[in-house]
Amino acid sequence: MMEIDKSKPILVTGANGYVASWLVKSLLDEGLKVHAAVRNPNNEQKVGHLKALAAASKGELKLFAADLLKEGSYKEAMQACELVYHTASPFKSEVKDPQKELVDPALKGTENVLRSANETESVKRVVLTSSVVAIFSDAQESVDKGVLTEADWNETASLSYQPYAYSKTLAEKKAWEMAEAQNRWDLVCINMSFVLGPFLSQTANDSESITILKMFGDGQLKMGVPNLGMGMVDVRDVAEAHKRAGFRPEAQGRYITSAHNTNFLSIGQSIAKKYGKDYPLPKKALPKWLVMLAGPFLNKSFTRNYVKRNVNVPVNLDNSKIKRELEMDFRPMEETLHDGFQEVIDKGLL
Ligand code: NAP
Repeated sequence: MMEIDKSKPILVTGANGYVASWLVKSLLDEGLKVHAAVRNPNNEQKVGHLKALAAASKGELKLFAADLLKEGSYKEAMQACELVYHTASPFKSEVKDPQKELVDPALKGTENVLRSANETESVKRVVLTSSVVAIFSDAQESVDKGVLTEADWNETASLSYQPYAYSKTLAEKKAWEMAEAQNRWDLVCINMSFVLGPFLSQTANDSESITILKMFGDGQLKMGVPNLGMGMVDVRDVAEAHKRAGFRPEAQGRYITSAHNTNFLSIGQSIAKKYGKDYPLPKKALPKWLVMLAGPFLNKSFTRNYVKRNVNVPVNLDNSKIKRELEMDFRPMEETLHDGFQEVIDKGLL
């Protein structure tokens, strides 16, 4: 069985990101050596929090410059690593050129990182940060199938329909293809649902997760929310899932990493329980016909088809594999949302 030597460095790509920062913290707190690959190690705004985390921990942090689109640029950071976490990938819903802004970095970036893994003799395991959007595009698919599991693949996303989901699906498929073409390293995928909870960087970074938390508090949604069905998980639980996927020899395949099958209205209501008096949180769902009419004007991705297949449609993701095989427990939804919303307030984003 594959064992990771904890005295060796561990590579985390996109180490400054919302999700990866919590993983880096957890690795450092355990006293491990982290090779943190970021686009610009000299950008204090992006990496200052990682340096502070390292200083407060028993671990060691080394920063490396790397870009998903620069062939071979993760090679130096990968030297001597047995475990590679590939988290870097653009996470945005509004883009002008989906091929250039989403698909190229996700797909070519994954190929780039895994090609370096093929060329780096020390690598034994790669954990890919994938998404449940590599499993489905629309909530309606979970109604049609009854439940979504790791056996399902997204077959409906494209460059013109949910291009972010398309980018994650292509990247994960490529990763499995490359993993199966060799036998030195194995691949484990963490397929997370929407990640929420507190963040470690000092300023808001680009993650959509933080943008959404802000939107709940800044009044944009005060008239109501389009009640999208969705899965949700705490960022700290996601970091723990990555750790278990990396170090547990028995970890294998894909893991749906989603704590709660919920929806936008329940998220708003849960935050409102504690913060509703002081912030203009959404308290009701917008009627589906209204979202259908106004949606395309508010957000390019809210096409009629998208609204039809997602608004007021429940999502049913089966998280039993990760609970059973990696003994994962998840935080209650309120803890995630309250800690996340408090962070948005504390960091002055509202
Ligand atoms: P994030 O904070 O925006 O992190 C994305 C990371 O990818 C950043 O470090 C970013 O670097 C890096 N990156 C983007 N383009 C790059 C490029 N061309 N070269 C090198 N690095 C690049 O978002 P996140 O929410 O933490 O997402 C992390 C991962 O989780 C992604 O793979 C995402 O698809 C996945 N995921 C997220 C969620 C969620 O709800 N947040 C759910 C499922 C899956 P810069 O800071 O320099 O831009």
